[in-house]
Amino acid sequence: MMQDLTTTEYLKTAHQKVLFTSTRPGAVMERGQGMYLWDTDGKQYLDFIGGWAVTCLGHSPAAIKEALCSQAATLVNASPAFYNKPMVEFAKLLTDLSGFDRVFFASTGAEANESAIKLSRKYGSLQLDGAYEIITTVNGFHGRTLATMSATGKKNWKDLFAPKVSGFVHVPYNDIEAMAEAVSPKTCAIMLEPVQGEGGVHAATSDYLKALRKLCDEKGILLIFDEIQTGLGRLGSMFAYQHFGVKPDVMTLGKGIGGGFPLSAMLTLERFNIFEQGDQGGTYSSQPLAMAVGHAVVGEIVRQGLCENAKTQGDYLLKKLHELAMDLPISNIRGMGLLIAFDLPGAHGSELVAQCLEAGLLINSPQPVTLRLMPALIVRQEECDAMLAILARVLKAYYHKAA
Ligand SMILES: *Cc1c(COP(=O)(O)O)cnc(C)c1O
Repeated sequence: MMQDLTTTEYLKTAHQKVLFTSTRPGAVMERGQGMYLWDTDGKQYLDFIGGWAVTCLGHSPAAIKEALCSQAATLVNASPAFYNKPMVEFAKLLTDLSGFDRVFFASTGAEANESAIKLSRKYGSLQLDGAYEIITTVNGFHGRTLATMSATGKKNWKDLFAPKVSGFVHVPYNDIEAMAEAVSPKTCAIMLEPVQGEGGVHAATSDYLKALRKLCDEKGILLIFDEIQTGLGRLGSMFAYQHFGVKPDVMTLGKGIGGGFPLSAMLTLERFNIFEQGDQGGTYSSQPLAMAVGHAVVGEIVRQGLCENAKTQGDYLLKKLHELAMDLPISNIRGMGLLIAFDLPGAHGSELVAQCLEAGLLINSPQPVTLRLMPALIVRQEECDAMLAILARVLKAYYHKAA
């Protein structure tokens, strides 16, 4: 094991040994507690990225530690061929809470979406004369496996890793006519995020989602909500579908469901319980450690009233950002709960993210002109105020405004 290298040494080794996939800041994270992270230099960061909308209970929460320690001492892994105790307990909790009948567990959001894609194609082959096409939305994000990349509507991914998985059609978001026009006898499902997260926090309208529900019912095709980012309290309701009042046939969860532990789920209704032996599975599906953590995390979201907190703090952040917008050039302040974004007057996102990092604040820029906030659901008003103070200072310095 490597012992206490200097940060420079860690970075040198990282640059030499870790396969390059993305440029990362010159910090090595070592420790986290609540709303804060510390790097190997002991520098403290106020975290409004929240592990990428993941660490909903904050960093190193007692609930995860206790669940992991006690489950690790009891059973780490039985084999996917058996049911296990925490799996049954968590399946019961999640189906009761969500209003769905059946759940399939996996480790990543992309896998949960792969499951939804497979389930839709299975339904198409059984009920829709072999229909296999899935319609998704431009600017949507569904993951990084080949099929979920193909489902994703990112323009700059269009020609990556050709040939793409076929059977995906992309239409503009919030455009019911475009969707209705795209549905054909080959369509088995429509899949979208109720709020496009990576696309820059763009919400669907309730009318649009209601019209999609009606369209799917008329055509007999599945409606899939990718709630990997919006689910489990993020928007101030337990699930986005409840906020919008439109229930899909399939809902995928990830990110916050494990509070930082790799875990995801696909939920569906009894009539779509149609996989046959061997159609779907995975070595780590329903892994006991993950099940124990998920059960603890979701239990804490309910017990601590974190949906209500997400709504309260989110409303506060929106109000304060509108105040900031009176003397700073930020606009299009949007979002709900603790998924919030605003636009900059130009493509300054990555520069401002770097300057906030320097100033001890972690925020995210999902698009070059957009900054996004997605803190842990446990965030308190004093931490929102601390974030706003740093953000205002950085923005003022950047846009050369007097303080
Ligand atoms: C993050 C995300 C995914 C992918 O999840 P992974 O765990 O990275 O595979 C899919 N859909 C949405 C909406 C997401 O935000």
